[in-house]
Amino acid sequence: MCVLKNSLYQSHEIVSRVVCNGDTVVDATAGNGHDTVFLARLVGTGGQVYSFDIQESALNTTKNRLESENLLSRVNLIHDGHQNMMKHVNKPIKAAMFNLGYLPGGDHNVGTRGGTTIEAVKSAMELVVPHGIISIVVYYGGDSGFDEKNEVINYIKTIDCKKFSVMQTEFVNQINCPPIFICLEKIG
Ligand code: SAM
Repeated sequence: MCVLKNSLYQSHEIVSRVVCNGDTVVDATAGNGHDTVFLARLVGTGGQVYSFDIQESALNTTKNRLESENLLSRVNLIHDGHQNMMKHVNKPIKAAMFNLGYLPGGDHNVGTRGGTTIEAVKSAMELVVPHGIISIVVYYGGDSGFDEKNEVINYIKTIDCKKFSVMQTEFVNQINCPPIFICLEKIG
């Protein structure tokens, strides 16, 4: 079995190290609901997940997935862009997950965009507690193009190193633009 795991695995691994029962967290891109379910399990019965998507179909899929796992009561499904996070989340969060790109199985033209993603990351940086985590899995290439990836990577390089540790990992010898994993930890 391979020891070097893909970006999605790495994001789950790091987030699961910090999120505990009772925590509040954000899924900035609900999509098909896999990350929302993952977070809902981590926060337990006393915790809360705020899960955003601009597509109703994505939120419906996420809702069905949560219902089938009996996790819906832990999740606020929000039909709005993650760039409006501050309007909906009014308490500190332990983690925020971003899974960029388009909805698998959906319209490839309705993907995340650099400008709004960066706005949302900035909001999450305000909301996250010291030693909380913001994870960003960047899908790019193909129908997603390269603009968002370049904008996000340019932005994270400007983040004050006294306020956040920022890490980026990627496979450099794989074909077809393997997703990049970016992780921010707020410094205490
Ligand atoms: N995390 C998801 C999962 O576990 O299935 C996959 C997310 S998918 C790659 C990206 C999602 O981001 C799409 O469903 C898309 O509708 C959504 N999206 C695009 N722009 C958005 C925005 N401004 N705010 C919130 N969601 C957005």
